[in-house]
Amino acid sequence: MTERTPTAERSIDTRDATVTCPCGSTQVLDLGRCRELSRTPDTQSAPDPGRLYRCRKCRLLFRAPALSTFDAEALYESISGDEWQYDAWDSSAWILAHRRLQLRTPGDLLDIGSFDGQFLAQAPPGWRRAAIEPNPGAVAHLQQQGIDAIQGVLNDDVCSRLQGKFDVVAMFDVFEHLHDPLHGLRLAAACLRPGGALYLSTGNADHWTWRLLGSEHPYLATEQHLVVGGETWFRDTCRSQQWQPPRMTRISHKTARGLSRVRAAELAVYFGARRRPWPYRGLASVLHKLPGCHHRLHRRYMPHIDQLQDHLFVEITP
Ligand SMILES: [Zn+2]
Repeated sequence: MTERTPTAERSIDTRDATVTCPCGSTQVLDLGRCRELSRTPDTQSAPDPGRLYRCRKCRLLFRAPALSTFDAEALYESISGDEWQYDAWDSSAWILAHRRLQLRTPGDLLDIGSFDGQFLAQAPPGWRRAAIEPNPGAVAHLQQQGIDAIQGVLNDDVCSRLQGKFDVVAMFDVFEHLHDPLHGLRLAAACLRPGGALYLSTGNADHWTWRLLGSEHPYLATEQHLVVGGETWFRDTCRSQQWQPPRMTRISHKTARGLSRVRAAELAVYFGARRRPWPYRGLASVLHKLPGCHHRLHRRYMPHIDQLQDHLFVEITP
């Protein structure tokens, strides 16, 4: 993807400010204030959504200021069992990972951020299952299923206990929560035996919706989404770490068929066009006159969608 130049974007040198990419670079593009976040039930006030930046060095998209490590971990520990429940066969990443696991000789499988273990529960026969999960209720549930579960997050302490012990490490919808994504990938890779593979899924910063929607992208409606990698980022990172080139597949977050994808794409075009000047705005006014689309006028931001292929499934073999 070529470098985007939306109207709201301005190049800044942050050497005198405080914005630094997780890679350490201060050469960043300011893509604007992130979309507003929902109010939290305890404080009744909405958190500061921060601004969205793109690093000119590593191409990562990141939010700043962002939720601190301490607050993020407290949030993951407090989440109730009703949230983040997936239907295993609704998740494109889980389906792909399941197929890849079937092609490998069964061994040791680690799921980082496994929540209640639905992915592990669907692992093909023969795989020995382990998990890292911050939520104590979810960990108890995992242990009841006979899964070797460690309560915690992906950090040096936890990974030092698991170094070189797994044939496959899975990390679905976790990457975007990492304050230092490269360090996180290194830790996950360190848990692998020689010849092992890391499967991860996350948003794709190189998807066209980011050029249209920028800091108002639905992916930023979640405060815990701190960074967005992309095909460029993963390819360059694997090269810099002297790993094999990553195998990447564009996926939708949930499985979707043709017509629902077309509808989702049209929705993204509408909201993207609306935030731009004429003639894009003219296109938006045509689209909102389509049958059943008038209600969009009153929505400030594009709603969350799962049908566009704006995610990546990445297989890394260090
Ligand atoms: Zn960077």
